[in-house]
Amino acid sequence: MLLKDNFGRSIDYIRISVTDRCNLRCVYCMPDTIKSGCYQDGKINHDSILTYEEIMRFVEAASALGIKKIRLTGGEPLVRNSMHELIRSIKKMPGIEELTLTTNGQRLAETAALLSQSGLDRVNISLDSLRADRYSEITKGGSFEKVMAGISAAEAAGLLPIKLNMVPMAGINDDEIEEFILFGIKTGCQIRFIELMPTVVNEHLFTNGFIGSDEIKRRIEKQFQLTPLKLRKYGPARYFTAASRETQAAGIIGIISAVTCRFCPQCNRLRLTADGRLRPCLYSNIEVGLFDALRNNATKEEIQNLIIQAVELKPERHHISDGDEKKSGAPHMMSGVGG
Ligand code: SAM
Ligand code: SF4
Repeated sequence: MLLKDNFGRSIDYIRISVTDRCNLRCVYCMPDTIKSGCYQDGKINHDSILTYEEIMRFVEAASALGIKKIRLTGGEPLVRNSMHELIRSIKKMPGIEELTLTTNGQRLAETAALLSQSGLDRVNISLDSLRADRYSEITKGGSFEKVMAGISAAEAAGLLPIKLNMVPMAGINDDEIEEFILFGIKTGCQIRFIELMPTVVNEHLFTNGFIGSDEIKRRIEKQFQLTPLKLRKYGPARYFTAASRETQAAGIIGIISAVTCRFCPQCNRLRLTADGRLRPCLYSNIEVGLFDALRNNATKEEIQNLIIQAVELKPERHHISDGDEKKSGAPHMMSGVGG
């Protein structure tokens, strides 16, 4: 079976947020005044977070509808206990071809081997600075050494290729764009530069810190020769080989234009929040509630009908740049909807 929305897009990818909690407070994602992740107006209480069994019921229904790729995210997925057990169960599900995870890397050194043995295919690691003090400032206390140890452990565990997510922000870390590419060349990691996305909590930062992907590319091209690569059919990333104009050494980079360049016509994904809401678009308030169905043992067909409903409600495009916050459906925090 193939899920198709009303605009002819095939939907085969779901991002599952396994928790809204996080052990960091990145400046663009969560205010440091809160003790724990929040979804919309209030923290999700523990009873309202989907259990692994409920997530598996969802995955079973979704894979039978043609979902092939799953990314686990959060909040920080590795703050949730026994993540490898969920990974093992998802990987066994017929139809699931790719299982990946996005993490801040703080707990990756001690978990990478087990995650890989349990069936995880790859990791994306968020890293916004290569300077320990600056990294700690951006993340409000994160340990740079732990991310570095996490990258090494992921490499040793074969979670390849490792992708590093970096959000360039004017006056904060945009002077490191070139350093990141050199770091990628040295380590073999793919560097993904992600446009800063506006949320309800980062308005001021977005106004002052946003750098568009064209500008990011223009800066890179001063030092590197970019050759376009066609790595993926879908998704917001444009990939390139970046070769140093000085040494010719090269690596792969991605530039993700979530804000300025709409990839909506190719969007193939849905998002499941930690409390069981299925969002067909990151930047829309449209949601289909799955929590009650999953908690109350609804049948597979009933869950599938809710998934189909979400696909049918998928809007044609987002309205991030339209300037109307209500219409734009900007999430309160990315940690609540899975970034
Ligand atoms: N905690 C994990 C991490 O940081 O990798 C997973 C969740 S986080 C919400 C997923 C991704 O979203 C991270 O790479 C993060 O940098 C990105 N992100 C969060 N808020 C963002 C924003 N306002 N603009 C752009 N990217 C954002
Ligand atoms: Fe936590 Fe990830 Fe958000 Fe940073 S980006 S605060 S690590 S959820």
